[in-house]
Amino acid sequence: MKNENNSDLITSNFIREIVKQDIASNKWEGRVFTRFPPEPNGFLHIGHAKSICLNFGLATEFGGTCNLRFDDTNPIKEDDIYVQSMIEDVRWLGFEWGDKIHYTSEYFDQLCDFAMSLIKGGSAYVDDLNANEIREYRGTLTKAGIDSPFRGRSVAENLGLFVRMKNGEFPDGTKVLRAKIDMASANLNMRDPVLYRILNTHHHRTGDTWCIYPMYDFAHGQSDSIEKITHSICTLEFEDHRPLYDWIIDKLGIHHPQQIEFARLNLAHTLLSKRKLSGLVDEGHVSGWDDPRMPTIAGMRRRGYTPESIRDFCERIGVAKANSTVEIALLEHCLREDLNKKALRMMAVLRPLKLTITNYPEGQVEELNADNNPGDPASGTRAIPFSGELYIEQEDFMEDPPKKFFRLTPGKEVRLKHAYIIKCEDVVKDSNGNVTELRCTYDPDSKTGGPTASRKIKGTLHWVSVRQSKKAEVRIFKHLFLNENPADDKESTDLKSALNTKSLEILKECRVEPALVESKPGDRFQFLRMGYFCSDLKDFTPSTPVFNLAVTLRDTWAKINK
Ligand code: ATP
Ligand code: MG
Repeated sequence: MKNENNSDLITSNFIREIVKQDIASNKWEGRVFTRFPPEPNGFLHIGHAKSICLNFGLATEFGGTCNLRFDDTNPIKEDDIYVQSMIEDVRWLGFEWGDKIHYTSEYFDQLCDFAMSLIKGGSAYVDDLNANEIREYRGTLTKAGIDSPFRGRSVAENLGLFVRMKNGEFPDGTKVLRAKIDMASANLNMRDPVLYRILNTHHHRTGDTWCIYPMYDFAHGQSDSIEKITHSICTLEFEDHRPLYDWIIDKLGIHHPQQIEFARLNLAHTLLSKRKLSGLVDEGHVSGWDDPRMPTIAGMRRRGYTPESIRDFCERIGVAKANSTVEIALLEHCLREDLNKKALRMMAVLRPLKLTITNYPEGQVEELNADNNPGDPASGTRAIPFSGELYIEQEDFMEDPPKKFFRLTPGKEVRLKHAYIIKCEDVVKDSNGNVTELRCTYDPDSKTGGPTASRKIKGTLHWVSVRQSKKAEVRIFKHLFLNENPADDKESTDLKSALNTKSLEILKECRVEPALVESKPGDRFQFLRMGYFCSDLKDFTPSTPVFNLAVTLRDTWAKINK
């Protein structure tokens, strides 16, 4: 949202209000300490961006600190590749963390000590039931759970067994440490949840030091406490876990952050779950986590999104307590608004049709002057080569046009952007009747500033010169999922059947003005009349330029919300 000075207006939300009140009442001695705690088991996505903007945003706004903490408690699924990509993405979004990066694995000793003190206080026990049995004993929402036969073990026995678990004396899955709370609790999370499990697995940071690993619910709240977090912000599904976090922290008598839940971002036509996104990667439906169709930060960056547009989006969607689904049109609107200000205007013909100007001096090449961005005079001008042999867009010509087709048709005139007015005199076809060339004449006086330049002409087309233009590949993207709510698809239906088979179109015969091949990977442009495009971060080279469609020019969001 913008105010009349067009500067960013901070919209308030209930979490910001809580923080403000806490500062006013000196609840945490005025401290604001948040954290963003991803599990490094995939790449960050636009949902995470919402949480990043919220947590880092609050710290920035109130002069506090936001920690970046990797919640690396499940070595089976985690990898340093994901850690590195997440660091890059948070930084790219424009945020800075506190003194250093934190890892839950750095607290493993401390967490183990916490577990010991729960055992000593009679609040945790070692259980020999296996995972299935534990599930059966837990009961259901309508049926109370049953105590495990091992629940009555003495403190001494529990301590001895836990130490032996830690020392690697037992195989995976044979024992767990559980909190001793209440098997009849109405809240299933309170029915003696598992705190530690045995996993004889190598960890990407701690190596083979540990063979027991804390469960998320045990590690998470305690890590927040260790880091002296004040506002522990998480998504709604953790509301039911809060009593457990409170219980553990109170038993241990340690710093007690305030947990506040908010609604996660759901985006239409998009899956926001690392687990499901990793399915798309593993099954080869996309080229990788950074495929430009992916809702990952890395994919969006490659597609052409700017950090500013993503931050703007996160500000506009707000923070609420109720779940909802956001239209992709809003995300695209934010990108368009940003690129409209920044992107240089260039000419590129995606599906070329040859056009010859029969009265243009043979062999002549003119350098025409074109502004780089009419909205930004500081962006300057560039020279574009014009000649008697051009390419225009196939869709800009119709032999037998409907009414109101203001592009090129036989016998009619159009203006060529930055150049002359031309008239279509003749249509050349191949033996199958396909149009292969247009033969036109031009009005030599109609160049910008010329005597007939201001003649009233309805259509203006983009174009490139045949000989000076360069060949390029352009990749056009559509939604990965046809279904507006792919997450609603049953777990059992495979991802493949839900996919949009037409989500990627590759155009290999595009022609672009010469300046474009000198761009750098990641540069963003407006191809006049076609959309915003970005030089591909991975595949672009000056000899094989590749451009990604970031977003089209048609703003459905702005139209709907006028
Ligand atoms: P995923 O299912 O994608 O793995 P997650 O919640 O398990 O999501 P984490 O790595 O644990 O992933 O998430 C780190 C933080 O990002 C958490 O605090 C979580 O609440 C937040 N987060 C994850 N997804 C969303 C979302 N769609 N909207 C808002 N916040 C999110
Ligand atoms: Mg998670």
